[in-house]
Amino acid sequence: MKAIAVHPGQSNSVHMTEVAAPRLDEIPDGRGVLVKVLKVGVDATDREINDALYGNPPPGDDFLVIGHESFGVVVEVGPQVTHVQPGDYVTCTVRRPGNSIYDRIGRSDITSEEVYFERGINLLHGFLTEYFVDDAEFIVKIPVGLKHLHVLAEPMSCAAKAVQQAYEAQRRLQVWEPKLAFVAGAGQIGLLATLVLRLKGLEVFTLARAPRPCLKSEIVEALGARYVSTGETPIEKLAEKVGRADLIIDATGSSEVAFFAMQALGLNGALVWTSITGGQRKIEFPTDNVNMSWVLGNKLLVGSVNANRRHFEKGVAHLALGEATYPGVTERILTTPVAGLQSYHEMMRLLVEDKQALKVYLEVADE
Ligand code: BGC
Ligand code: ZN
Repeated sequence: MKAIAVHPGQSNSVHMTEVAAPRLDEIPDGRGVLVKVLKVGVDATDREINDALYGNPPPGDDFLVIGHESFGVVVEVGPQVTHVQPGDYVTCTVRRPGNSIYDRIGRSDITSEEVYFERGINLLHGFLTEYFVDDAEFIVKIPVGLKHLHVLAEPMSCAAKAVQQAYEAQRRLQVWEPKLAFVAGAGQIGLLATLVLRLKGLEVFTLARAPRPCLKSEIVEALGARYVSTGETPIEKLAEKVGRADLIIDATGSSEVAFFAMQALGLNGALVWTSITGGQRKIEFPTDNVNMSWVLGNKLLVGSVNANRRHFEKGVAHLALGEATYPGVTERILTTPVAGLQSYHEMMRLLVEDKQALKVYLEVADE
């Protein structure tokens, strides 16, 4: 069958290749789920992989099948699989367990091992192909009423985890009732985090560079949040105007913004960093000032990456409540479909060049 792959370490090597079709019996103990791929989303991680800045092939292969934002339909299941059946829509988690204690309790998203295994990213082939198979543990059902949100399930799992990490960590305070949140960045993670925080009843300001009105500002405002263009109002200025935030989620992809966000956090607040910044940038930063305000204000900084199946399930629940609360809004993130596996060059081009695209995804097959 056909698959879209790169040669990790070789820049702009995206190509189509032939790989063996997966079989149900590759997964032991009757726990296999065979999935026909319908759509796959791509994001900044895929861009970095194709730029040879990130990612490794599975041992023994010189290529990596890319694609980690999957959406498909179940074709066949092993005898021990009960939570999905043929015909169900599903997505699949990305990371696979190593051997640390966290991996062993189903928390590979917080593995303590340096080397992590991620389908389509690091050491494991991904989903940008015709079929895939995996253990039932990693297959997440998408209710039929959410099939129009397809590839957003994976990015939503990361947004859901980022918010949940803040709430879990803030148990250190015994009571925490955040009211005001800033979301830095209005890409897919920023917009989905905005949705999650609005569903929790927070007042949310979402910041991005583009002046309003634009699609980002329209989506933010349709979620009942406020859109702030950082050209007019940088995050420190926003904090002066509306007060410092109880919770800030950074999803800008800029380490500079991530650091400057520290100045906009209120007493007892939590800041979550989600950007994976591959560069080598350095900035000048008021370290004494921030250090002091963080100590005197008992503030928290937490990094959040990846998501396990419970975060996926939580994410699916957020998407469902999102549809009930703000009908038709979330799907506006799905801006840029590309038809057919053979259009992988166009997919990469749009991912790199189309600054208006919020989500580029490949329509691999019809049902
Ligand atoms: C993926 C995560 C992954 C992270 C780091 C993101 O694009 O969505 O699942 O953990 O990259 O590789
Ligand atoms: Zn991703």
